[in-house]
Amino acid sequence: VTNADEVASASGPVRPTSGASVVHRPIDGLGARLTGGLLGDWQQRNRSASIPLALRQLEAAGNLANLRLAISGVGGTYRGPVFMDSDIYKTLEAISWEQGREPSEELAEFAAQTTALLRAAQLADGYLNSYKQVTGNPHFEKLESSHELYCAGHLIQAAVAADRSCEGAALLGVATRFADLLVSRFLGTKGGLDGHPIVETALVELYRQTGTAEYLQLARQFVDQRGYGLIGDSGFGIRYLQDHLPVRDSPTEVGHAVRALYLESGVTDVAVETGDAALLATSVTRWDDMVATKTALTGGNGSRHSGEAFGDGYELPPDRAYNETCAAIASFHWSWRMLLATGLGQYADLMERILYNGFAASTATDGQRFFYVNPLQRRVDHFEDDDPGRRREWFSCACCPPNIMRLVSSLGHYVATTSGDSLYVHLLTGSQITGEVRGRKFSLDVSTDYPWSGSAELTVRSCPETECGLAIRVPGWSRLVTVTLNGEPITAHSGDDGYLVIRRQWRPGDVVAATLDLRPRLTFPNRRIDALRGTAAIERGPLVYCFEPADQAAGVDVEDLALGSDAPAERTAELAGIGKTVIIDAQAVHLPAQDPPYSENLAPGPDGSATAVAIPYFQWDNRDGRAMRVWMPYEATKP
Ligand SMILES: [Zn+2]
Repeated sequence: VTNADEVASASGPVRPTSGASVVHRPIDGLGARLTGGLLGDWQQRNRSASIPLALRQLEAAGNLANLRLAISGVGGTYRGPVFMDSDIYKTLEAISWEQGREPSEELAEFAAQTTALLRAAQLADGYLNSYKQVTGNPHFEKLESSHELYCAGHLIQAAVAADRSCEGAALLGVATRFADLLVSRFLGTKGGLDGHPIVETALVELYRQTGTAEYLQLARQFVDQRGYGLIGDSGFGIRYLQDHLPVRDSPTEVGHAVRALYLESGVTDVAVETGDAALLATSVTRWDDMVATKTALTGGNGSRHSGEAFGDGYELPPDRAYNETCAAIASFHWSWRMLLATGLGQYADLMERILYNGFAASTATDGQRFFYVNPLQRRVDHFEDDDPGRRREWFSCACCPPNIMRLVSSLGHYVATTSGDSLYVHLLTGSQITGEVRGRKFSLDVSTDYPWSGSAELTVRSCPETECGLAIRVPGWSRLVTVTLNGEPITAHSGDDGYLVIRRQWRPGDVVAATLDLRPRLTFPNRRIDALRGTAAIERGPLVYCFEPADQAAGVDVEDLALGSDAPAERTAELAGIGKTVIIDAQAVHLPAQDPPYSENLAPGPDGSATAVAIPYFQWDNRDGRAMRVWMPYEATKP
């Protein structure tokens, strides 16, 4: 038995204060340590391949050069978009979470050198922004498009991460000096708002880390001032900036998806730290609407390339979908806060859908190429100015890659929480989890090959000496869950909140084995989603599947297949360019050629049977870069 003193102090993103109105609390210390499986593999790949790439690119693309120019004042040639500093901050945040997991001298060296550059570039009043300092443009002007507070927000998040997970006092000093300037410049005024949210959630996190109440007050002010025309027009209209309606009156997500979803993290953080149930309720309303009418099967958001924006309700075209990687990350961050605030498993369900699909597809198998745009269909002749259809190593607007890195580095923090006297497991993955329940350590080893396998073993390593609960999330798609305790079947029902809770006096060595139903299933769209009418998709567990030409039988064109109604079959495989996977063979029919685009006659029916072969969506575009589709025509009857 160990006591609470041995549980490390707070680390990880999103640490509600002891007074916050939350149902769940993140577990302390490192969160869960990922020990293997898909998420653990992604975390290793992120560290060994993706982060080194970011360090090279921050030099090659000019981000660090901009910072060096800023140290010597106005002059020189600034490179890239106005928010180049934010890529540095996101990378520093990723490094901080990595240092918390497993310190590396090389990463520590980069963080120390870059922090020294930031300290040198910071002005006496606390201001720091390489674009404004190199170009000499006035500070805090054109906030609708200058991204000054957006960059400040990412600086603050990086500093909070550094302070929570490693030696971060220097970076925290830079961030608090800038935050203090923001307080003196904006608190209690109508002095403007940033066109791109994130400073709201960042200021709440800085309040959590430092206890300085003004940071929370300023975050609340920024949330409450939105929607009153204080931002101005960046040229994309006020809906793009979520300035069309006060947050408390807004029923649905509109405009630039990343902006809208980052704002929601701030809204939720402000609501729980100020006990503002009415504000939280507006976030709940928009989340429900977003999931019901504006979210792709992959968890992606943003139906329009124009404005990288949410579309109308049910406007969810698979081919034109934008689904920016950053929007997936922002939605994941928002749902985590909603999960903490409410304790409802539906939020973890969406996080998992995003994680294994819309988010995971962003990164190539080698961890060195990334998608910015994540559609659900690509035709073989695809071309789009802002989306060549293949992953790339970096982007002129490189918001996504370092954003991916900071999330993957922090994934362990999203695995489990505590609530009351129970430990909750939200993401089943190979991990070691240590939470604090009733003032005592409650530790588990989770062993599983999820999501390839639906079985998981949770072994208790240490536990309180009184009865307490162990809760496992039962995803909405799992029709059947079997559970054993030390080999004996037990009857356990999941509650309305989506969790199956086992209460007992636990003993070290107790083993809970749970099996989720991963049988492949056909999924059909709501009839109001016109772009998908008459189609079906295949899912297996949390994974959405897709069809690429490379997997089909010789002579079979994906575009001439329709899925049939028979249950799909699965087989494990090792594919060149992809590695380990589970392939699905779906019963299908072949559709005959139909040359005229329009005709007086209904399309002819199928002329033969076929098999359509699917792979997980997140593994697409790792081979020949040809066509891909998630949704297929559906023909209920065989020929
Ligand atoms: Zn992005």
